[in-house]
Amino acid sequence: MSSLGKGIAASSIGALLQARGFSIRMKKLDPYINVDPGTMSPFKHGEVFVMEDGCEADLDFGHYERFTGIACSADDSVTTGKIYETVINKERRGDYLGSDIQVIPHITTEIKNFITAGSENVDFTICEIGGTVGDIEGLPYIEALRQLSIELGKAKTICVHLTFVPFVKTAGELKTKPTQYSVKLLQSMGVQPDILLCRSEFELTDDAKNKLSMFCNIKRDNVITALDADSVYLIPEQHHIAGLDRQICSHFSIQCDREAEIDSIISKTWGALKHSIASPKSSVKIAAVGKYTKLKDAYISLTQALIHGGIANDTKVEIDWIDSEWPQEQLSAVLAGVSGILIPGGFSSRGTDGKLFAIQYAREKNIPFLGICLGLQLAVIESCRNILGIKTATSREFDDDGTFVIDFMEKWISESSTTETRTQDGNKGGTMRLGNQRCHISADSLAYKIYGKTDITERHRHRFEVNIEEYGETLERAGLVFSGMSSDGKLPEILERKDHIFFVATQAHPEFKSTPFSPHPLFTAFIKAALSLGR
Ligand code: GLN
Repeated sequence: MSSLGKGIAASSIGALLQARGFSIRMKKLDPYINVDPGTMSPFKHGEVFVMEDGCEADLDFGHYERFTGIACSADDSVTTGKIYETVINKERRGDYLGSDIQVIPHITTEIKNFITAGSENVDFTICEIGGTVGDIEGLPYIEALRQLSIELGKAKTICVHLTFVPFVKTAGELKTKPTQYSVKLLQSMGVQPDILLCRSEFELTDDAKNKLSMFCNIKRDNVITALDADSVYLIPEQHHIAGLDRQICSHFSIQCDREAEIDSIISKTWGALKHSIASPKSSVKIAAVGKYTKLKDAYISLTQALIHGGIANDTKVEIDWIDSEWPQEQLSAVLAGVSGILIPGGFSSRGTDGKLFAIQYAREKNIPFLGICLGLQLAVIESCRNILGIKTATSREFDDDGTFVIDFMEKWISESSTTETRTQDGNKGGTMRLGNQRCHISADSLAYKIYGKTDITERHRHRFEVNIEEYGETLERAGLVFSGMSSDGKLPEILERKDHIFFVATQAHPEFKSTPFSPHPLFTAFIKAALSLGR
């Protein structure tokens, strides 16, 4: 079921196989009908993760990339909507030559094609199936899995089933029944799990493991506890110690006489993170002022990037999630106690007043500030309104009327050199400036000190831009320095203020590129600046 940690389990398997020297590829099958998650609300579904190629994907891709360091692509993410779209397009083209189009074989074939595409280039393809066993939307995926394990054979496929083993307090017991029934349901669809990964608050007793092994028709050593952990980064090593990767290799008859060496590789990488996470030298409090603060998953990459910035500074980062719709008194009370203020990306005008207030607070009180995407746009508006007194300064996203310092830049040349147009009436899905975009940084800037180079690439997801064409001179008067510009020199990418301890904002989403082993320099620098306040 959702929230059990399928994404983390899949990522851990990927990372452990990598530690054993194998090449891997991560894929996800999402049973919902949306064609892509780009238009799904972060309130309900959590963050939309953006890949290098601009694919808007489920947040699990963030885990995959952070754990394995591999950049995923649009070819790794599929939804039922997309599968059906492909099949229907083929039907319209006449590819099926008049035959009836059915879930089996047409939809399942398309799913199998998706799973196996590109697998010849890697040792392992790890494919996560979203949702819960028994969900009506998930049926074709389970059926495709059944067919695939027959076609490829057991020697080439493995099915790892993540289940929930609840602890019932009043009985003082772990309950294996939900797992038994979940496996029964899978078996009734013709799928026999090879490994059971049992998410649980406590280590499964021998008794519980024996029971699951017997009732679920699974080898005793393949019943593995997936214990709750304080940090997701502790999980790969935990799974390794529990024998997960060893059992996977054993399933595929992969002999390994280097177990001790592999233990040491995993302990030197994943194990080493344990120290940075559990006992860092210092701690720092950062306020993140946003709209989706009630659902932690809505800002998951951002949270992780802040944690990574903390790891780089041997510091625990405490994040105060602040709802931008709080009244100003409440906002200032919280902001008074933090060492850094961050404004994340976002859409629409709701909560902008609170964010503008927080930016003004950071600017005037010289508190380190980091703005991401919408955070940059609001920083521009804030300076125009409060430094220059242009009260009408706004974004076309929020108002029909005003001084649009943030606007649609009607035409821009994308990296692929095609001219794209975005307008008020355009489609909402797939019409943003998405994915990797190049940026040139001026050598005499703070941004250059942070990145250590003049040419960078960051991922993007936005529709509006700073209107430097019309208001360039005004923005300069407001003390706004655009130290990073798009490679064609037209679109502002990085903003900084020279009169401040650390006031940096970016039109990109650097959080998507940060990993625990390679923290993003912007977050590292932000946390360092916050630490320097000495609060
Ligand atoms: N809403 C803004 C835009 O579309 C910012 C987007 C974001 O923060 N990701 O340009």
